[in-house]
Amino acid sequence: MIRINSHYTKLQASYLFSDIAKRVAAFQNAHPDKEIIRLGIGDVTMPLPDACIQAMHQAVDEMADPETFRGYGPEQGYDFLREAIAREDFQARGADINAHEIFISDGAKCDTGNIQELFARDITVAIPDPVYPVYLDTNVMAGRTGAFKNGRYEGIVYLDCTAENGFVPALPETPVDLIYLCFPNNPTGTTITRNELQVWVDYARENKALILYDAAYVAFIRDDSLPQSIYEIPGARDVAIEFRSFSKTAGFTGTRCAYTVVPTTCRAFDDKGQEHDLHSLWNRRHCTKFNGVSYPIQRAAEAVYSEEGKKQCRALSDYYLHNAALVIEKMTALGFACVGGKNSPYIWVSGNRGSWELFDLLLNEAGVVCTPGAGFGRCGEGYIRISAFNSYENVAKAMQRIEKALG
Ligand SMILES: *Cc1c(COP(=O)(O)O)cnc(C)c1O
Repeated sequence: MIRINSHYTKLQASYLFSDIAKRVAAFQNAHPDKEIIRLGIGDVTMPLPDACIQAMHQAVDEMADPETFRGYGPEQGYDFLREAIAREDFQARGADINAHEIFISDGAKCDTGNIQELFARDITVAIPDPVYPVYLDTNVMAGRTGAFKNGRYEGIVYLDCTAENGFVPALPETPVDLIYLCFPNNPTGTTITRNELQVWVDYARENKALILYDAAYVAFIRDDSLPQSIYEIPGARDVAIEFRSFSKTAGFTGTRCAYTVVPTTCRAFDDKGQEHDLHSLWNRRHCTKFNGVSYPIQRAAEAVYSEEGKKQCRALSDYYLHNAALVIEKMTALGFACVGGKNSPYIWVSGNRGSWELFDLLLNEAGVVCTPGAGFGRCGEGYIRISAFNSYENVAKAMQRIEKALG
């Protein structure tokens, strides 16, 4: 008899986006002439930078010529891309990362989801609340949790991110082995300072733990005192894996290219306490289950690091940050406390009421769609996430409507 992985039955159906879609459809039916503005999206809206498009076109032409055609590439990615990443994203900022420590992939979602395969089933996992759901659900699938009760899975150590701690979690009170951190954060849009991140690196070193650091939104950092990579923090090379993506940085959400950094000094332990290097383990996993990102896409990603590419990517994130500044200004003037939006495309708005209540109010009174914070975890209740991924015209129009409805 074929049997299923019964841990899947513990997963909570993600009602968040289907609930949103249902309420939006109901509103649309009741007001067929009313145009809806979506500020709930976690996807970019602007086209790819021209430098990337040019590079992609050229690479496609190479694939059409028997002299320059390429079949399977290296599973870990082409050296031209790995070397550009190591130089520009790490060495230029004083972080000691080499090209062979970089694994090119088709997404940070896959990598953050797949990485937990390397670890024992009975480790203790610490996950922030609110959170990007991938970290949690993949550990549920792997059997690292008990049942879902009162809005939380048994067996997970939740790291509360609240207004009281500035949305940067405190160290756990019970020992943990694996820690997920994401900065600039999705959904709260908040950042972590060097000193705060050093506390986590020190904790991981003292407790033989490992940090999984998701830096998908690094391109939005404008405050230069903030760390862009965890490897800017002394000691991090031994205790941290970092995830990056071209999705939000360069508009690659539909194109697919990302990378994961596993330093050769990064370690984990077996049942006897013997040390193993995670670089070798991830390399084994990656080569067994992945066959590389397509050549034209890797050429497009390489172009992100050209002089033109850098300027064009900067212009993209500037555009969304300009939207975010308008959201902060208008929502603050209406009496809502806001965090994020300064080094992040997301604004986390304290609703002065329940998440869904504010969601319904904005939808029904202003025709604006946001994301209810409660959908990202228990600590998200009372908040909404507003995304700056839209045109400036739409954001301005949405803010005018909200002002009119609530002002
Ligand atoms: C968008 C996002 C990613 C990027 O995922 P890709 O699969 O590379 O598109 C990673 N982490 C978080 C928290 C995100 O919001």
